[in-house]
Amino acid sequence: MPRFNRKPKDMETFRKLLKQHGLKATAQRIAVHGVMMEMIHATAESVYDKIKNDGSCKITQSSVYNILTSLADEGIYGRRLSANNKMYFDINSYRHAHLYDTRNHVFVDVEADEMLASAEQGLKRRRFRGYKIDDFEVLILCHPTRKKLL
Ligand SMILES: [Zn+2]
Repeated sequence: MPRFNRKPKDMETFRKLLKQHGLKATAQRIAVHGVMMEMIHATAESVYDKIKNDGSCKITQSSVYNILTSLADEGIYGRRLSANNKMYFDINSYRHAHLYDTRNHVFVDVEADEMLASAEQGLKRRRFRGYKIDDFEVLILCHPTRKKLL
């Protein structure tokens, strides 16, 4: 089971991970991670918009997508599809639970160690004929209670 680590990866940790995975710390990868440290969960489009607005480096939207995809393929980032069919990348790749705002399509990390431990225990005893469990996710569907967020 992956260990829990609450802090998003800082830049130094990110650089070490790139090296471990044989990836160069290019200006583009560093810019993408800089934005992901702020946003935590984001689509390639929103990361691209932020880099473009900040003017921190020259990059195309497809390069941002390719960088995020390769980081997720390497297990450095997580990713999940939203209900409106957008791929959200997650700076945190360890197992953690999410609130998912079904109206605004926003993912929020939540402390749910007990729920995760309980689900893992329950799944250890379960068998699904013809399938082997690789992993599981806890996604709590919700909507904002404050009207101004709607
Ligand atoms: Zn997350």
